[in-house]
Amino acid sequence: MNYKNTIEFAKGLDAKDELRKYRKEFHIPLQKNGEEYIYMCGNSLGLQPKRTKEFLNQELEDWAKFGVEGHFHAKNPWMPYHEFLSDSYAKIVGAKSSEVVAMNTLTVNLHLMMVSFYRPNEKRHKIIIEGDAFPSDIYAVESQIKHHGFSTKSSLVKLKPRDGETCINTKDIQKIIEKEGDKIALIMLGGVNYYTGQVFEFEKITKLAHQKGIKVGFDLAHAAGNIKLNLNKWGVDFAIWCSYKYLNSGPGSIGAAFIHEKHHQKNLPRFAGWWGHKKEERFKMLDKFIPINTAEGWQLSNPPILSLAAIRASLSIFDEVGMEKLVSKSKNMTDYLLYLLNTIETDRIKIITPKERGCQLSIQVTNGNKNLFNKITKKGIVADWREPDVIRIAPVPLYNSFTDVFNFYSILKEVL
Ligand SMILES: *Cc1c(COP(=O)(O)O)cnc(C)c1O
Repeated sequence: MNYKNTIEFAKGLDAKDELRKYRKEFHIPLQKNGEEYIYMCGNSLGLQPKRTKEFLNQELEDWAKFGVEGHFHAKNPWMPYHEFLSDSYAKIVGAKSSEVVAMNTLTVNLHLMMVSFYRPNEKRHKIIIEGDAFPSDIYAVESQIKHHGFSTKSSLVKLKPRDGETCINTKDIQKIIEKEGDKIALIMLGGVNYYTGQVFEFEKITKLAHQKGIKVGFDLAHAAGNIKLNLNKWGVDFAIWCSYKYLNSGPGSIGAAFIHEKHHQKNLPRFAGWWGHKKEERFKMLDKFIPINTAEGWQLSNPPILSLAAIRASLSIFDEVGMEKLVSKSKNMTDYLLYLLNTIETDRIKIITPKERGCQLSIQVTNGNKNLFNKITKKGIVADWREPDVIRIAPVPLYNSFTDVFNFYSILKEVL
């Protein structure tokens, strides 16, 4: 599209935007002067849908009214409540409903998945991860390696960009797979890297890895609800995500996992709990664990209904809109943002996000000068700063407008 860097042009894009009515479905935080913040931080904490309150109130009321009987008699019975999310999640990550389950939190799920999919032996014990992966993911894989009696020095391979580049080249992953494939047990990548915003080539990496008998898992913290995913078709072994970033379900709300159907019948080793036990027999309180043979078989505990209610509220919006439309607007907004940033003549910032991306752009600030970030924050922008030198900006298609994007640009330009 031929973009223009004027507010009129941005407003024109908003006028044509099919999804613009959804902004009203969200609480946009207000500044002291009563104006709305320019909220570009949905990659860190998504905004609250107005309907979330209703969904939560329903469960509070049913708890008040029914007590324990709510497990069966609540309007949305709590016993199967997690199942009410499965169809929506399946659409978001491109899976069958039997392959997804809402449970725990992201890092916990990463550990649970590694219990099943990281089974190192003397010959094959390495894990491949991005060098700049989110710290929690690094801690998790390192602790798993040590737990199995291996050392991170010999078993953890951290992917690095080539000299002078900021993102990881798939060809370099391919080279490692070709060279050391029979020593690698697991490739664990962020579907969208949290720092650079790079989207990895899911299908290609998965295929290359499987040819060498390597398991593949993705952390979708920055991918779920942001980019189009097709986990079932791509044959990914497992994935995990949180629901409070692009999925707008509130701080610390519970996460989810995807386990490909090809693994469901195998009775894989796992850490077990009663909620993963065959449903018909769960309350017989038998000693022998028989897992449900879907993703649900990895559940441990009965889940927090209030958190699930908040996720359901948000997923109901995703159901209405659909990922197709969402991604289409998202691309347009981020392209516009990139266009605008490229019109600023300065050597003080550099965009490090590659073409393969979701809605986030990562702006590297020369010499890691945090002043710039502090100044735009004072002017009403909510973004986030990641050490050592990056401002992450995420225009979210459900509630951000092209006008937001323009206002962000003009404030940044002014400060620069
Ligand atoms: C946000 C995020 C997390 C957070 O993990 P929690 O267990 O939900 O606290 C982990 N990994 C990545 C890549 C993230 O972006």
